Amino acid sequence: MDYIDSKLKESPVHEMTFRGRTYFLKRDDLINPFFNGNKARKFDYYLNSDLSSYKKIVSYGGNQSNAMFSLSVLAKIKNLQFDYYLKPLPLFLKKNPVGNFKYALEFGMNYFELPNYEEFFQKMSSPEKTYDKSGKDALLIRQGGAEKEAEQGVEKMADEIHKWADENGIKKLSIFIQSGTGTTALYLQKHLNFKVYTTPNIGNSEYLLKQFALLDDDSSNYPVILETEKKYIFGKPYKEYYDIWKEISEENTIEFELLYDPKTLIALSEHNKNIKGDIMYIHSGGIVGNETMLARYKYLGLI
Ligand SMILES: *Cc1c(COP(=O)(O)O)cnc(C)c1O
Repeated sequence: MDYIDSKLKESPVHEMTFRGRTYFLKRDDLINPFFNGNKARKFDYYLNSDLSSYKKIVSYGGNQSNAMFSLSVLAKIKNLQFDYYLKPLPLFLKKNPVGNFKYALEFGMNYFELPNYEEFFQKMSSPEKTYDKSGKDALLIRQGGAEKEAEQGVEKMADEIHKWADENGIKKLSIFIQSGTGTTALYLQKHLNFKVYTTPNIGNSEYLLKQFALLDDDSSNYPVILETEKKYIFGKPYKEYYDIWKEISEENTIEFELLYDPKTLIALSEHNKNIKGDIMYIHSGGIVGNETMLARYKYLGLI
């Protein structure tokens, strides 16, 4: 593939304004058009590894997952087959593939619908990587890339932030980043000399702490978890999510992401007054998924 080489370029830092405050914005969405955001960070290790002893990459998760799309690109670059396991698909998506699902198919993903997905998920997600029904020639990557292998690429992000802060004479900085599985936020805090704040999107703080503990038992490496006042259900379209996404995207003429950014931005707007000094927000990419999110907002009559 000529549009991506195995060395991902550093992401630039821009400025953004949001509700009367100026922030630094780390543009991980600009790492590469096909392979970007925190999935590029989390899969950087594999991108730089010799995977020629494998025939295929195997993973599983949601039908609109950013990780799924990124892995389809990784498999293509590495000349491997990509098998993806998921819950039975909604008929409309099967007939009219859109968003991450469509692009992953274009990159050659094979998918397998599992009526007993939950059972499969439990086995696959066990901490020991013992369960491997696909054989030795398959590289298993857990849902969302929640893996120790993610550390190396996220450490690079921390290095880039240190270097940038040095060059710009910034001594005190606070980082805001979204969490799904919490893998990125955890490894970022582990390698960063600045404080990392994160907002749980998939579950609550308790879920996120459990996730941190699966990857690292040293709680001094854990980021600070900031909740929003209101509770939200992951993946559900909320009018205020769309509104905050539209507001910040238009104000800065930068497209933000509709699944993880809104709740994190609500948390940012609720908590930023307590944080002195410069704040850096991480744009973790994933805007390919906006297409399907926007379609759902329209379908529900929210926009
Ligand atoms: C996957 C993803 C996340 C969640 O990352 P974790 O490491 O699982 O916490 C956040 N934002 C975007 C855009 C993502 O694609």
